[in-house]
Amino acid sequence: MSEKLVDIVTKVLEICKEIPLCDRCLGRIFSAYGVGLSNKLRGLSIKTIITMIMPYIVKELDVEDVKKIAENMKFPPILEVLRRMNIHVEYVEKPCYICSDLLDHIIEEYTRKILKESLNYEFENFLVGVHVPSEIISKEENILREFRIETYESIKNEIKREVGKRIKEKLDIEPEFQEPDIVFLINLVENKLDVNIKPLFIAGRYLKLGRRISQIKWLVWNGMKYRLKYDLSIEECLQAIVVVFKAEKAVLHAAGREDVDVRMLGYGRPMIVELRKPRLRKILEERLRAAQSKVSEASKGYVLAFFEKKVSRNLVREIKEQAKNHVKTYRALVLSESMIRNSDLKRIENIFSNILISQRTPTRVLRRRPDVLREKIVYKVATRKICENIFEAIIRCQGGLYVKELVNGDQGRTSPSFSSVIGKNLKCLELDVLSISASIQG
Ligand SMILES: [Zn+2]
Repeated sequence: MSEKLVDIVTKVLEICKEIPLCDRCLGRIFSAYGVGLSNKLRGLSIKTIITMIMPYIVKELDVEDVKKIAENMKFPPILEVLRRMNIHVEYVEKPCYICSDLLDHIIEEYTRKILKESLNYEFENFLVGVHVPSEIISKEENILREFRIETYESIKNEIKREVGKRIKEKLDIEPEFQEPDIVFLINLVENKLDVNIKPLFIAGRYLKLGRRISQIKWLVWNGMKYRLKYDLSIEECLQAIVVVFKAEKAVLHAAGREDVDVRMLGYGRPMIVELRKPRLRKILEERLRAAQSKVSEASKGYVLAFFEKKVSRNLVREIKEQAKNHVKTYRALVLSESMIRNSDLKRIENIFSNILISQRTPTRVLRRRPDVLREKIVYKVATRKICENIFEAIIRCQGGLYVKELVNGDQGRTSPSFSSVIGKNLKCLELDVLSISASIQG
């Protein structure tokens, strides 16, 4: 044990002979000793011990070295001990080599700034980050290298921890390292506090009661400028909710997508709305209701959104993945070039029962999407004749199947198709999604 103490004392004397250090910065260098102590108390304790054993140190060291150590200790009692031994060292205030004696001030000042700033936002947890100037980092690295220090706490870590501890106590909330609501970045390079509000993800679903509504804003170039191809988009309608959460922007992450001319009925399509930079983030019943009526208003009732709960960011990728495995039910209104016989409809119902469909990327989307072959299952089809050349089909199938091509065959690129099994040219007049059987698990 005594050997360890000698090691520590020797190292302290070696360092303090060369550079002045404040209590905190000295304490950090020995952070492996007395875990749980604050660096300030640890540094002060080391300085106290050195002062206590000064009479013994003086016997072993050159008096000039003793004077240098005493000057760099930044601890007046040591000068008094030396004075009684007839060694006179003049007290000169030397700034700390690492922090220039600013560390205490930085911790208090930024704690105050964060507490003031926190009044502008709702958050349940937080994280403190620190951006340290490179000259301080290289000073730290010099010390580690020159004095062969193996365990050490960086100044960055100390500021984060000390400020974080104060915020936690004052606001009675916990720091969160994985997915914090808000990050307070102490920017010591530019001497300012940066506030980074993390997005809020709300799971829900949407219904589209009209046609010619795109999922996201669809812009086309008319030779002069961009203009909207369709007046309404789901994502644009969702912007109406940013005011409820005092956010900057809403981004839609949906589980799949229906065509512009396809309605989304029934229970709706699962989605996650990402609100960027929300000042309010508590999911209150009245806020969700207000958000829902804002969307309905903005779309004149053509788009209905239902918001359910806050979810984690990871779920965004998951609902997009899940969409491939959804079971979907469609209603298609089909026009035939020639008269439809009851036997045609029977044949469609018989053949399209748990059958695997091979489908190349439809011709109509080839410009935007790679030409790939996909295989999707049609579970069941039920038909109803409307008039002699129009029938309705209720189609239950795997997510990702292009239903218009299941009807018309896309010149053989989808096989089998309704058209190919009855040998008639067919066209899908109307298409609606009636149900998507999946719910977002939070
Ligand atoms: Zn310091």
